[in-house]
Amino acid sequence: MQRIILHLDVNSYFASVEQQANPFYRGKPLGVAATMTLYGCLIATSKEAKAKGIVTGTRVKDGLALDPNLIVVEVDPPKYRSTTEKIFSILAEYSEDIETYSIDEAFVNLTGFVKDVTDASQLAQRIKQRIFNEVGEWLTCSMGIAPTRWLAKFASDTAPKGELVVLTRENLDGYLEGKALTEAWGIAHRMEARLLDLGIKNLWELKHYPVTNLMEAFGIKGYELWANLNGVELSGVQTPRPPKSVGHSHVLRRRTVDHRFHEAVLMKLCEKTGRRLRSLDMEAGGFWLGFGTTLGSGGDSVRFPDRTADSRALFRTAVDIFRQQHKAGVPTHFAVGCFNLVPVSRQGSLFAKPKDYGLEKAMDEINDKYGEYVVTTGAMFGLAKHHADDRIGFRKTVSWDVAALDKRLMGRDAGLAIDHGPELIREEAT
Ligand SMILES: [Mg+2]
Repeated sequence: MQRIILHLDVNSYFASVEQQANPFYRGKPLGVAATMTLYGCLIATSKEAKAKGIVTGTRVKDGLALDPNLIVVEVDPPKYRSTTEKIFSILAEYSEDIETYSIDEAFVNLTGFVKDVTDASQLAQRIKQRIFNEVGEWLTCSMGIAPTRWLAKFASDTAPKGELVVLTRENLDGYLEGKALTEAWGIAHRMEARLLDLGIKNLWELKHYPVTNLMEAFGIKGYELWANLNGVELSGVQTPRPPKSVGHSHVLRRRTVDHRFHEAVLMKLCEKTGRRLRSLDMEAGGFWLGFGTTLGSGGDSVRFPDRTADSRALFRTAVDIFRQQHKAGVPTHFAVGCFNLVPVSRQGSLFAKPKDYGLEKAMDEINDKYGEYVVTTGAMFGLAKHHADDRIGFRKTVSWDVAALDKRLMGRDAGLAIDHGPELIREEAT
């Protein structure tokens, strides 16, 4: 089934709600201040204020210098929350799968609720009309419709205020042409500078840049950049709120059709990901696998019926997806990730065996003490014979959502390599 995601973002939210509440403020430059002092900052400004250069973060004093007629009101959270509730309850009539991303932004998974993008566009117009009629005529929103969560937000972020942008696999290239790198959700100036260093000047070029080169430069972050722009879904609409994610990727230097080798690489990626989950005392509600081949790319994401932190469960899922999705070509890279992470619940249900990952944690401990992969699972033995010509470095793997998590985990990954003796290699071969 064709995936259809809608992203909605109310324009100049706090300021628009204030103008909605008080018609006298409409059409005039207005700023919402955290505190009513001259040196406080404006946390939101109306479109009329923005037109005069008074943007979010401007100090009240500086705003008044830019326009002495600037209306300054004090922030009123209950007012914004009640407006948000009204808007989101309208959205809830059209899908069960809604992620409230912030007080004025939401993702709505319309997959299965609409026929196609035309249907989805009509629904978006209807939602817009209902917000106008039922919440307030001064509230406008930018909307994006796309096959993935990331592209939907990118579409509404880059849409003209109050309008809808529909991205499809067909029109995406044309839309990206000439678009600045920093227009993409998640690319700030530091990343822009690093991409420019690689000779990538705009988003179209980023989309068409060889993914393996991006991964060599940025690790899994490189895969993520490429996947987002190429319409590969990495996490789906995340109800009820955005989770942390962990994952690993690897570029294969050795090109082979031997699936035992590919599965051994997947085992290692899943083992690393599982270890990370367990070290955080987290379980994953979903998993994705992405891969590239000499003829193209593929991948998919799945939700687990029961959350897990078991490397073998991740591995089985990875292999299932790979077997289903790999049609042709020699594999060039793999990336795996877990999403919808929640803390491990030790209570469990009355009948289920409590999950404590005892065996896995014991293996983790031995490996922590004596070096990586002293103790390992059968599938990984096969990796050994390729060790010499395909060093499995994993140096550039990072978790890509949480800076704090990065810091804790980066150190442990440095310089990891698989090192089985030659005896094992012969054993495996016979
Ligand atoms: Mg907004």
